[in-house]
Amino acid sequence: RITGVELQGYIRTIPDFPRPGILFRDITPLLGNAAAFRAAIDAMAAAAEAVQPGAIVGIESRGFLFGAPIADRLGLPFVPIRKEGKLPAARLTVEYALEYGESRLDIHQDALEAGTAAYIVDDVLATGGTALAAAKLVELVGGHVAGAGFLIELRGLGGRERLGAYRVDALLSFE
Ligand code: 5GP
Repeated sequence: RITGVELQGYIRTIPDFPRPGILFRDITPLLGNAAAFRAAIDAMAAAAEAVQPGAIVGIESRGFLFGAPIADRLGLPFVPIRKEGKLPAARLTVEYALEYGESRLDIHQDALEAGTAAYIVDDVLATGGTALAAAKLVELVGGHVAGAGFLIELRGLGGRERLGAYRVDALLSFE
């Protein structure tokens, strides 16, 4: 069995990606090891299960890699939040600031039954802007946020503080 501490060793750090000065945490070595990937899903699913959500909401695109197997593991519906313009049916959009510029995320209007407790999943929590936009979308379509779960939290970027209104679970943590 692979423990949480050992999982940290499956994250590869790439300097100056996607821009000079950024230390990118690359999750592909973890995805590429079946035991490590399974251990990560097991632990993230256990954290989600603790808040008894009614749905798992995954953020495109790396949030899908973790959110969908967690939903399957827990027997819950999976709801995708996608980059603007990809969802086909009636949708709601939230705009949020990036380090440089801005971005938009969409959710289907009918994605959640009213009052559903949604658990948001993504690979990495950095500044928290993406997850906060996802939380807004959940609330706009009538759900409420039971918590947010990440494989990795990048400490010192303020993400956990920014999501202060919500429960935050992170399996691994980097400075
Ligand atoms: P935030 O909105 O919290 O600043 O950034 C989080 C989003 O950017 C997540 O969707 C995540 O996939 C991506 N992201 C930011 N930094 C990294 C990183 O170092 N590694 C990976 N894999 N994704 C990152």
